[in-house]
Amino acid sequence: MQETPARIDTIVAALDADGRFVRESPGDHGRSAIDAVHDPAMVDFVAGAHAAWSGAAGHDIAIPDVFLHPGLRSGMPPSTPPKSPLGALGYWCFETTTPMVAGTYAAARAAVDCALTATDIARSTAGASYALCRPPGHHAATAVFGGYCFFNNAAIAAQHAITNGADRVAILDVDYHHGNGTQQIFYDRADVFYASLHGDPDRAYPYFVGHAHELGTGHGHGCNVNVPLPEGCDDGRYLDALGGVLTTLEQFAPDLLVVSLGLDLYADDPLGDFAVTTNGIGAVGEAIASLHRPTVILQEGGYAVAALGDNAVAFLDAFTRPIDRAQR
Ligand SMILES: [Zn+2]
Repeated sequence: MQETPARIDTIVAALDADGRFVRESPGDHGRSAIDAVHDPAMVDFVAGAHAAWSGAAGHDIAIPDVFLHPGLRSGMPPSTPPKSPLGALGYWCFETTTPMVAGTYAAARAAVDCALTATDIARSTAGASYALCRPPGHHAATAVFGGYCFFNNAAIAAQHAITNGADRVAILDVDYHHGNGTQQIFYDRADVFYASLHGDPDRAYPYFVGHAHELGTGHGHGCNVNVPLPEGCDDGRYLDALGGVLTTLEQFAPDLLVVSLGLDLYADDPLGDFAVTTNGIGAVGEAIASLHRPTVILQEGGYAVAALGDNAVAFLDAFTRPIDRAQR
């Protein structure tokens, strides 16, 4: 598994060494902001899954191996969660790369608290803040988790802002992988705009979501933008695509911008196939910072551990510069 604690240690060390970043401890925001986005029954399951699993099977790591594939009940009413811990895992989780251990629920709750604390700071200062969330969140949908993600930090942050008075929030997802969970959660919403640049799902995880024709539905039609990109996508190609997305995003005039920052867009990432350099990642940060919106940046993926610190600093660099109000 690529999602390791060393990722976070590397980024913390780089930000501390840089010296321009002020650390804030996350505050406890409770569970209500999570229940506002996810099915509370799934949250209950994540809270108790490890205890149920270890009691039932005597193992320390819970990984599902049978899933609620939609074809199983095609033409029939939906199923309910089975009592079996293994069955329930396959009901609430969509794949096998998201093991649960004794500290999973506490870590997922802490990641949400990081995201919400950073959101409060970005909104109260009308500036930018960065939350070093682990586990990441953008693959977690309303009622199913997976892809190293349990609770959707970006979606919870966006909904938290709406609940607390924001009229419109835009989520920009630059992780190499499409944020299927974020898209699903807001697919019919006109108050949350979601845009993602990612490896084309024809070849890249999560495979089944993230196509260009997925535009949102009902009131949310037009509020979902997907830009699938080819293998080998380099700085120029990526920045061109980003420019188009940012033009559309600006037309939405968000009160808050949430950035799902996956550093797996980097050329040497073991889970990606783009050719974006550290300089390119800096240019991506600069383009986003130039919008001068209140911005909360949430860490998603990124698995080239040795380069993560440099890449995080490169992205955040433009957000450390004073805003020239005359340019607004
Ligand atoms: Zn990713």
